[in-house]
Amino acid sequence: MSDAVKVGDVSAEPGTREQGYIEGVELTTGDSINIPVVVLNGSKEGPTALLFSTQHGKELQGTAVTHEMIHERLSPDEVAGTVIAIPVANPLAFMHATYRSWIDNRDVGYVNVENTEGNTTERLASAIWENAWSKADIVVNYHCNDHPDSLYFQIIEPTEETEADVERAAEAFGITTVRKDNIVESGPGPIGADRVPTLSNKGAAEGIPELMVEFINGRYLDETSLRVGVDGTLNVLREFDLLEGEPSEGPQEDITLVPCQYTGGHGVNRAHGMVRNDSGGILYPRQPTGEFVAEGETVADIVDLHGNHVESVKMPVDGYLWAYAGSQQFATSGGMQTIESGGKVVYAFTHEENV
Ligand SMILES: [Zn+2]
Repeated sequence: MSDAVKVGDVSAEPGTREQGYIEGVELTTGDSINIPVVVLNGSKEGPTALLFSTQHGKELQGTAVTHEMIHERLSPDEVAGTVIAIPVANPLAFMHATYRSWIDNRDVGYVNVENTEGNTTERLASAIWENAWSKADIVVNYHCNDHPDSLYFQIIEPTEETEADVERAAEAFGITTVRKDNIVESGPGPIGADRVPTLSNKGAAEGIPELMVEFINGRYLDETSLRVGVDGTLNVLREFDLLEGEPSEGPQEDITLVPCQYTGGHGVNRAHGMVRNDSGGILYPRQPTGEFVAEGETVADIVDLHGNHVESVKMPVDGYLWAYAGSQQFATSGGMQTIESGGKVVYAFTHEENV
């Protein structure tokens, strides 16, 4: 018989599902802001999966996916190993519906998890690392774009230690995959040029694979995001042997797909970056996401407050779009369908057939 799994104040015996909190931080009032967690310890031994949502406090779809998975789709009798669900990873951001922590405007996914006595958001990140992320054999990290016409996709950032595992996670989840290759020349190490030991970077350095999934329409729950998230996650759990059976064949159906070698096609998709603008005003998207757009085609028009057309924003490269963004609000894009100079018009990616 395997032992109880302990996460925060939760202790889950084999064959049980338990809920509780990872200790977080205290507000000026002394009120505690803790991180909710549900732990499902399977009857059989096996690996540990972390289902991790709402690192960004206004990205809600993954919260519903983790709820559905841990309470409805997974049973302690069927799981081999442990599933840890964190439905709201940054409660400081969530409580104010902001992207980052409202207290210090930091991102719990981009701070140093080794600063256990550091600033407020670093303490949240350290607690997540210590209690959950460091124990995982696979992490599914759920995010959302704001615009309802965004593309469902996933990002992988392989390192030497994690490449094989993130590739099979991507194949199992089965949606449009964008690969970021950011390997530093001085040898294996955490992803990211500055090598800050964030949750992702420290995890990658320790061989913990992470699949980052992007749903759409982040502020309001929708059935398609729930289905895509549940189907994909079940397949990842099958691929990593927490559930019996094989992942279903091929990419997920009924959502737009830009194929690559992980999803029934060839080559890879790579992030190109943000398309930006010069003029401020109202933002009019002009292209669907997930369909080919040639270099020089108009991706958006901008109309000033008098109603005059002032700019056509052009596609900088042959490629695809994953999400229109828009003006900054609370230090992130997507507040409204408006734009300031140098704003975030749309995210673009390219496809390389020969890699
Ligand atoms: Zn996000």
